[in-house]
Amino acid sequence: MHTSARIASSRPLATTAMHGRVETLRSEGQDVIDFSIAISHFPAPAAVLDAVAHALERERTMPYTSVVGALDVRERLAAKLRRENGIDARAGEIIVTNGAKQALYEALYAMTDPGDTVLVFKPHWPAYVATAQLLGLRVALADLPDTITPGLLDSLGTPKVVIINNPHNPTGKVYTRRELEYVRDWVQRIGARVIVDESYEHLIFDGEHASLAALCDWRAIGVVTIFSASQSHAMMGWRVGFAVAPAAIVEAMQTLQGPITAAAPHLSQVAAAAAFDSGAPVAMMADYRMRRDLAVQAFSGVPWMAMHAPASGPYLWGDVRALTRDSVGLCEALLEERRVAAMPGDALGVPAFIRLGYIADDVATLRDGIRRIIEFGDAAFARLPAGGKQAYE
Ligand code: PMP
Repeated sequence: MHTSARIASSRPLATTAMHGRVETLRSEGQDVIDFSIAISHFPAPAAVLDAVAHALERERTMPYTSVVGALDVRERLAAKLRRENGIDARAGEIIVTNGAKQALYEALYAMTDPGDTVLVFKPHWPAYVATAQLLGLRVALADLPDTITPGLLDSLGTPKVVIINNPHNPTGKVYTRRELEYVRDWVQRIGARVIVDESYEHLIFDGEHASLAALCDWRAIGVVTIFSASQSHAMMGWRVGFAVAPAAIVEAMQTLQGPITAAAPHLSQVAAAAAFDSGAPVAMMADYRMRRDLAVQAFSGVPWMAMHAPASGPYLWGDVRALTRDSVGLCEALLEERRVAAMPGDALGVPAFIRLGYIADDVATLRDGIRRIIEFGDAAFARLPAGGKQAYE
């Protein structure tokens, strides 16, 4: 079947594709442990479930809301932005979306023309690059340093839009205020606009979250800040997030969103208002911290894996260069032979690393998955000729 030239050069997201393969294997009765994406084993916060139950009970009819989201929801989100992020925004500067992904697509669409350059730091969330490619943009990839410096930023050319992911998937980096000020000064100097994805704002173990928009004149610069209930409140399948942006960008995003999905689902808007009112997920973070420490400890003596404890987020980012440069081959073999799904770093722009989501299922399954990976890697490592070729090459 012929498909358009626009879509012919695009591929499904590697992350969702791997998750789809896991679902297929499981439906065939296979015992697969899925570390390829991070799906929380937590339910949505109790306040969310109560708000939705209440809405179902009391409202019954669920009309379309305005495309940007119901006014009372956006007012509550504006209050959250003031309270938690130090961002002073009006309801007219907020658009509720079907998750961060829709906000990202719409923001990039609204801020660019085909051929424009978007700067993305790698490793990167695959959706940044996939979305830019769908929109015919040129993607400039730069290595994400441990610390952002003015000198580094000055070496990155003059992109039209810069994408910042803070806290960062997959490394867990939490940008300091100082780093964000460097970014602010740089984008002001070169006249770039910025999309800041703060979807992991509540998943921080070490450090403190700061919003770029709280440190600059975001209306003048053109900063779009994206939030999502998916990770911060364990609500992946509710498909809801929002963006705060200058009114003209929100209007442009609305023009795009109207014919595609119209508003985010009414019930998910009710859920989002309750979620973003619910504050930091304390119990969830205690559980994630325990899992992070357990996993990092388990990998600590493994000679072919280098892994730091991430300062934030639901992922471990493991350097497997001592074993192989072919992380795709490694992940394929892991899935094939040990039924563990992991995400090869190639999908995030950095080969020879693997990403492991550690927040799904129970702790026994986490331990079992780690054991399978270590046994598998140890056997491959033992087969490596000393100083010779690498496994999977
Ligand atoms: N941003 C990043 C960087 C992510 O990794 C994720 C979840 N994988 C999200 C946003 C959440 O996206 P969505 O709201 O579309 O579920």
